This record gives sequence, C-alpha cells and structure tokens, in this order.
Amino acid sequence: MLRLPEPFLNVAGLGRDFGRFTAVQEVQLAVAEGEFLCLLGPSGCGKTTLLRMIAGLEAPSRGRIFQAGREVTHLPPAARDFGIVFQSYALFPNMTVAANVGYGLRGPAWPRARAEARVAELLALVGLSAQAARYPAQISGGQQQRVALARALANEPGLLLLDEPLSALDAIVRLHLRQELRGLQRRLGITTIMVTHDQEEALSLADRVAVMDRGRIMQLGTPEEVYAHPANPFVAGFVGRSTSFEAVVEGAGVRLADGTHLPALAAPDHAPGTAVRVFIRPEDVALGGAGALTGRLTGIEYLGPVCRLELHAAGLSWQAEVAPRALQGVALGAEIPLTLPPDKLMLFAPDV
Ligand code: ATP
Repeated sequence: MLRLPEPFLNVAGLGRDFGRFTAVQEVQLAVAEGEFLCLLGPSGCGKTTLLRMIAGLEAPSRGRIFQAGREVTHLPPAARDFGIVFQSYALFPNMTVAANVGYGLRGPAWPRARAEARVAELLALVGLSAQAARYPAQISGGQQQRVALARALANEPGLLLLDEPLSALDAIVRLHLRQELRGLQRRLGITTIMVTHDQEEALSLADRVAVMDRGRIMQLGTPEEVYAHPANPFVAGFVGRSTSFEAVVEGAGVRLADGTHLPALAAPDHAPGTAVRVFIRPEDVALGGAGALTGRLTGIEYLGPVCRLELHAAGLSWQAEVAPRALQGVALGAEIPLTLPPDKLMLFAPDV
C-alpha cells in the first residue's frame, strides 16, 4: 500500500481569541518537509498570530501543533526546534556580526572552536565573511537581515519561521535578498514558513501559498493555483490584479447590469438566473477583435514591457495590460473593441 509521507508540521484546529475577538479561526495546515510555505493576507488577517503560535510565542486558544511527529502545542519556544527572523532585524547593537550570529551557540555542545567554525560557515553562507568584525550599525539593512537569517539558522533548526523579513528593505535590496533566500532555502532543504502581505513575494518564493482572510485560510495551493484558479472571490480579488463586476448567468454566458451579454464558461452549479461575481485579469482583456464590448480608453500607464490601461465599457471601469506596440496610434479617449476570452472570466457565487 502506498503511504504518503507524514507532514513535517501539522496544525490541527488551531485558533486564537483575544477577548471576544477571534484572530485565528480553526486552522488546518500540513507542511511537508523541505517545503516553503507563505502565509499571505491583508493586515489583520491573523497570519502573524498563526506564525507566533507555531513558534510558541503566542498561546493557542484551541487546537494542536505537531512538529516532526512530536506534539509541541504547549512547549515553550526554547523547547521547540525552529529559527525565526522578524521584520526588524533585532540584532544586538553592541555585538559584532560574528557574535550576533554565534549568540545561540552556547553550552557543552558548542565548545569555542566548534562555535567559531560554525559562525564562519554561516557567514560564508550569507556572503558576510568580510563583515564578521563589524557592528550592526556599520552594515546595510540588507546585510543586517542576512545576519539575522544566519543567526536563525545557527543551530541547524528543523523549521525556519520568517515574519515579513524583507518588508523593511528598499525595493532593489529586497528583490536581491528574496532570490538569495530562495536559493538558500532550497540548498539547505529547510522547511520554511514565511508571513507576508506582499503577494508578489509570496508567489515568487513559495511552493504553496496559504491565502488568509479574517483568521481563516481561504485557499491553500501552489502560486499557479491561487492565481489562475482562485477558489473564491476573496482570493480572486486579493491575489493579482483584476476587474470585477456583478452579473447574472444567462445563455452560454453572463449578462451585465447594463444589458451587455458576455460569453463565459459557467460552472455546472451556476444555473441560469444565478447572480454571480465575475473577475477577469488585466492580461486576459485583449484589444481588438469582434468583442462584445467597446471601451473608451481613459488611462494609460507606461511600465516598459507593458502598458496598463483603464477603459470604460458597459458602465464599468476595466483594467487591461497590453504590449506597448498594441497601442500604436491609439490615444486617450479612443473607442476600442475589447475581447474577453470566455474561459478567462472567473465566476463565483457572490460574496457571503
Ligand atoms: P499585520 O500584517 O498587520 O501584522 P496580521 O495578519 O499579521 O496583520 P495579526 O497580527 O495576526 O494580523 O493580528 C490579527 C488580529 O488580531 C488583528 O485584528 C489584531 O488587531 C488582533 N490582535 C493581534 N494581537 C493581539 C493582542 N495581543 N491583543 C488583542 N488583539 C490582537
């Protein structure tokens, strides 16, 4: 009989209340060994609280947590096996880079020579060997965050927890460190959970993304799954850009409030007459063709490889993304036929 491997981390019915407010509902989550999972959601959705419960920094109101087959629900952080990096670097300002990295390498398991060798290895891993003797104030923000990462990895933890580790960095450093983080995580094969509110970061880093809203996981899937096949209107609206509108299922498509009929692939459970919320991605709105809509161009944003357009059609504002050459000779105010591929309209029962 085929046996699936036990997940490395198992979260069962985990919840947290603050007074009468429930910050995290009953969350189920299984993370495989070596997996990079992102908790993605808007501010206040409970992602940090969930991460802190996994770390033992926040006591759950209910539910259980298992790591590597061991229940850790009520263990203090020090008795668990993880390293953590926070948004603020949280380095000791009066200690050198090397001393910061080696801070946790104490006790009989770490005689001085072994600890020094480990620190040197970690500094090489994050590319900071030359900065070992400097103090945190003497290195850049990106370097400080690499020190924090090296420190979190010092004890070879089984689990790496990251709470918005890149948020305080400027855009270029952030992008660079993002790639480094991914490379490092792959090389070490360390199971990683990262909290972020930045969807691009989540999509580019994670093996799977847990999209959260109001204390719940709204969808758990690969980046492609949550982007191309959102499970509900929240995920469709939160992950990626989109135009969305209310419509009614009719014929082989949907009818908009102004009477326009758009061909669409309605799911079998969308009976004729059903009210739906429809989403379409900007890159799926094509200019030209014999489309059902004609849009008036009301905005052009040139971004280099693409132009972001705003169009007014059927009483709605539409976003489109096209190659700049598709716009040659087209000016603001132009009336442009729009083609919406039927299989690109994403239909959902309206928000509850
Ligand atoms: P952010 O990205 O803004 O940090 P988040 O998704 O990480 O948001 P949490 O920090 O987990 O959200 O907070 C979830 C909810 O729980 C928020 O509404 C927050 O105000 C509330 N909350 C968190 N900690 C406490 C606390 N100690 N006491 C009361 N309410 C809290």
